[in-house]
Amino acid sequence: MSRYAYVAGRYLPQAEAAVPIEDRGYQFADGVYEVIAVEDGRLIDAGPHLKRLDRSLNELRIPRPMGDRALGIVLRRVVALNRVRRGMVYLQISRGVAPRDHAFPREVQPQLVVTAKRLTLQPPHLVEAGVRVVTIPDLRWARCDIKSIALLPNVMGKQAAREAGAYEAWQIDRDGNVTEGTSSNAWIVTAGGSLVTRPAGNEILNGITRTVVLELVRELGLAFEQRAFSTAEALAAREAFLTSTTSHVLAVTRIDDMPVGDGVPGAFTKALRQRYLAHLAAGSGR
Ligand code: PMP
Repeated sequence: MSRYAYVAGRYLPQAEAAVPIEDRGYQFADGVYEVIAVEDGRLIDAGPHLKRLDRSLNELRIPRPMGDRALGIVLRRVVALNRVRRGMVYLQISRGVAPRDHAFPREVQPQLVVTAKRLTLQPPHLVEAGVRVVTIPDLRWARCDIKSIALLPNVMGKQAAREAGAYEAWQIDRDGNVTEGTSSNAWIVTAGGSLVTRPAGNEILNGITRTVVLELVRELGLAFEQRAFSTAEALAAREAFLTSTTSHVLAVTRIDDMPVGDGVPGAFTKALRQRYLAHLAAGSGR
């Protein structure tokens, strides 16, 4: 089945969809993106994703190409054209096409591109055994809260993980603390049983999964702290896990080849994962 994309106001077979070479996304990574999960053909947490998209656009002073309603229609149409029941929809908005010059063009026509693809459930062995992460220095800029398409350090980091046979790389700041993964947020459960994740500042992307998990944690009445934690603290933790739209809640059982806790997914992580899957199944229409 051929895949379809939305580009420059049209729905096209993906093989025919293209942007001009002077698109500022292509030349300057001058753009933002979102990835929204699709379950049973429905967008999950579209509201918070579009809110974060707005925030990213505002921070970079890129105008919105269309309002939420119209954007929702485009997203759903691309999902339907690609017959995605379970998967994800990707949207990217760049500052548009203009002769190459670092400063903003006088007239900006933001360029929206939308694609969608099917994803199967995570391989059971990853869920059952948990995943390995490696640690790498965080080389990114000072505005990681913006979901920008400038992802070179994330690309290099994920490749380092892949070459080490790991699932993800946890980025470490100058103080020796974990910021986040290259495409996921990082969490631990301390020996004392408290859940810890870094607060949503400029050093991390405030994941939508992160926000939902924090809500679930509050509902369950579990103890949690939002603060930075070090690699050493993560290694001394009882459990560790990562969260993202496509990985959901996934146990981290080894960091730099050393086991976390018993080296198997812990009870806390498993319970949160179940709660999160229930949230997906309910297809929360927020
Ligand atoms: N941090 C980074 C750097 C990411 O790229 C992502 C995934 N886009 C996340 C965290 C997780 O965000 P979300 O839960 O919204 O997918």
